Amino acid sequence: MPLRTGRCLCGAVTFKLTAEPIVSRICWCRDCQHISANGTVNAVFSADAFEVQGQLTEYAKKADSGNTIARLFCPTCGSHVYGHTSLRPNLRVIRVGALDDPSSIAPKQNIWTASAPDWACLDQSIEQVAGQSAPPPPDVPEASSR
Ligand SMILES: [Zn+2]
Ligand SMILES: [Zn+2]
Repeated sequence: MPLRTGRCLCGAVTFKLTAEPIVSRICWCRDCQHISANGTVNAVFSADAFEVQGQLTEYAKKADSGNTIARLFCPTCGSHVYGHTSLRPNLRVIRVGALDDPSSIAPKQNIWTASAPDWACLDQSIEQVAGQSAPPPPDVPEASSR
């Protein structure tokens, strides 16, 4: 039984999540602003807890970190569904807004706040990180959308 389900705007792409997220963040990097007009809210899952159905188009871009980030979206409606990074290919970064119940995952950090626009509404009750958050210990998988 999936714990959570989600879909793109038109419904051609659907997905299931069978585990709890490793971490959840709002990312204010400039790449996220270009794709979403705002920060993106992302939850990171183990790849084997994520099952997706439907056709996706992939766009891969090298980030400032040197890692290649692949972003996958529905070719019909353009909705971003998830991404993954060359740094940790065993993880999937899911767009929380694509969940059928987006309230079921609350972001714990704002990251890349230094590049957030002046009008950004940053929740001061969660951690603020100017750039990428500190790297996790080697045995703890973690990733952001950057
Ligand atoms: Zn779609
Ligand atoms: Zn970002």
